[in-house]
Amino acid sequence: MAKRDFYEILGVNRDANDDEIKKAYRKLAMKYHPDRNPDNPKAEEQFKEAKEAYEILSDGNKRAAYDQYGHAGVDPQAGMGGGGAGGFADAFSDIFGDIFGGRQGGGGRSNVYRGADLRYNLEISLEEAARGAETRIRIPTMEECEDCGGSGAKKGTEPKTCPTCNGHGQVRMQQGFFSIQQTCPKCHGTGRYIPTPCPSCHGAGRKKTHKTLSVKIPAGIDEGDRIRLTGEGEPGVNGGPPGDLYVQVHLKAHAVFQRDHDDLHCEMPISFTVAALGGEIEIPTLDGVAKLKIPAETQSGKVFRLRGKGIKGIRSIGHGDLLCHVAVETPVSLTDRQKELLKEFEEISQGNAQKHNPRAQSWMDKVKDFFAG
Ligand SMILES: [Zn+2]
Ligand SMILES: [Zn+2]
Repeated sequence: MAKRDFYEILGVNRDANDDEIKKAYRKLAMKYHPDRNPDNPKAEEQFKEAKEAYEILSDGNKRAAYDQYGHAGVDPQAGMGGGGAGGFADAFSDIFGDIFGGRQGGGGRSNVYRGADLRYNLEISLEEAARGAETRIRIPTMEECEDCGGSGAKKGTEPKTCPTCNGHGQVRMQQGFFSIQQTCPKCHGTGRYIPTPCPSCHGAGRKKTHKTLSVKIPAGIDEGDRIRLTGEGEPGVNGGPPGDLYVQVHLKAHAVFQRDHDDLHCEMPISFTVAALGGEIEIPTLDGVAKLKIPAETQSGKVFRLRGKGIKGIRSIGHGDLLCHVAVETPVSLTDRQKELLKEFEEISQGNAQKHNPRAQSWMDKVKDFFAG
């Protein structure tokens, strides 16, 4: 059965701190406690679910394992026996190693175990993140070899019981006084060996291939968010269920906007005459051009906030804001006539620095004090 995301269960962000997690859990525990919900059989389930999520997320190590590997990282059923996967897991890490980060195999009883969760890094544009999108990703996967029907043995031959371990998958090694049980090095714990491997899959029973998956990107998604595709991870071994695929979202740098949670920031260069006299300028937003009134005597560094022109985050109620940071531009490539006018401007401003350039004047005063002191 697919399990719900622990953060989702507690209704907290992935970067929630211990306090927030504790608070969220307490609230749910109060709400769903079986004693308080005698007529609601679902409540007990929700109570247990919240308890499990809290047990994992309140423990630093378990939380880290969950963040990296998903449920497989903390699932007691998945077990931690390394050897069980054997050559098969090695084959996988070769294939997936480049693209995917962590992987994990557990070796429960009789070598049946859940496939590892996998991670795929997906880069999307800011627009896609803001509006939501549907995209297709191509990921490596394994499929059953057609030639041998998955047995790994050449057509007409059959896998044999491993002679080293007599099919147990484990061997006892004598080391001094101690006898140590180990995964059989010949069959890697499968208990079988293949005298004549299938030439098509070299005895693996599976072949590398690719599959294309459709990924729905919810509007408002942010850097670092993960989308889970249930059952699209590594296949389970010997009938175990498959793992999940986690699509880790990364935002491409945008030419105009920088995102900060639900807010957008942009730099807005304006000419020094517009800054001095005021005017109306057009600025870009995610839904097209907006007009902004620049009041007279606007200084560099001033920030104009356009409410609701930011992004509506996945868990947000409303849109964030767009913050335009004014950068007054010093004019360049001036003609002789322009220079002449500016010199004239400077001349008629002489002696009135306090009035026309109060910041520069007060700075100069401080500098004088500094040297005088
Ligand atoms: Zn084959
Ligand atoms: Zn063996």
